[in-house]
Amino acid sequence: MRIILLGPPGAGKGTQAKLIVKDYHIQQLSTGDLLREHRNQDSDLGNEAKHFMDAGNLVPDGIILGMVAAEFKKPYLDPGYILDGFPRTCPQAQGLDNLLVDHNQKLDHVLVLEVPDEELIRRLTARRSCSKCGYIYNLVFNPPQAEGICDLDGADLIHRSDDTEATVQNRLKVYQKQTKPLIDHYEQQGLVRHIDGTGDVKQIYQRILTAIS
Ligand code: ADP
Ligand code: ADP
Repeated sequence: MRIILLGPPGAGKGTQAKLIVKDYHIQQLSTGDLLREHRNQDSDLGNEAKHFMDAGNLVPDGIILGMVAAEFKKPYLDPGYILDGFPRTCPQAQGLDNLLVDHNQKLDHVLVLEVPDEELIRRLTARRSCSKCGYIYNLVFNPPQAEGICDLDGADLIHRSDDTEATVQNRLKVYQKQTKPLIDHYEQQGLVRHIDGTGDVKQIYQRILTAIS
């Protein structure tokens, strides 16, 4: 199974991707997570991406496509994957089309998670994630048992530097302008399923299961 998860920042892509990965035994490929790993390792790519990310702007397509093409060569994606946060621009979608042809693969579904902006801002400013396992918390909707500590492995929780209200506002604009047009690209391929991304995490996951099974 090969899935793209589309949706604005805070729509719940990471949260839902982790549930799908577990049930379908496929892999999550999150370009945001990959970029943050590069930044943590202080790599050239990480340093180049840093100022775009901190401003809530998109990292240039060439960097992203190079990074994704390198992942596509790795066997861990063979059982299938869910793309979370990629593609985000029309050139990236075209780049992905080419990669799929090169690897003789086809997409099964493009899921678009829909959540109103006010809810996205509420969710993102309260988002925290585990520095070790990446589990996603929310101070309001899904708080950890002990403040600042992951329930699963005891590691520190981090507050992403781009999850401030000003940066989130810019990221929402960027989504409307650069990423939303992709829905049309995939509508033309007959792959799109719109999912109501409001309500309980489990309820949303059930909607996803209905759409993909
Ligand atoms: P994305 O990957 O689309 O940016 P995340 O999965 O990281 O979104 O979720 C953003 C924030 O919203 C996190 O703090 C997460 O815990 C919270 N969240 C996710 N799904 C829901 C939901 N259905 N209701 C309330 N909060 C949610
Ligand atoms: P979100 O919670 O907004 O879905 P991500 O973790 O996917 O956040 O992305 C964080 C930041 O990383 C983005 O604001 C952007 O700067 C950069 N980024 C991630 N994926 C891409 C991509 N496919 N193209 C360009 N920039 C990206």
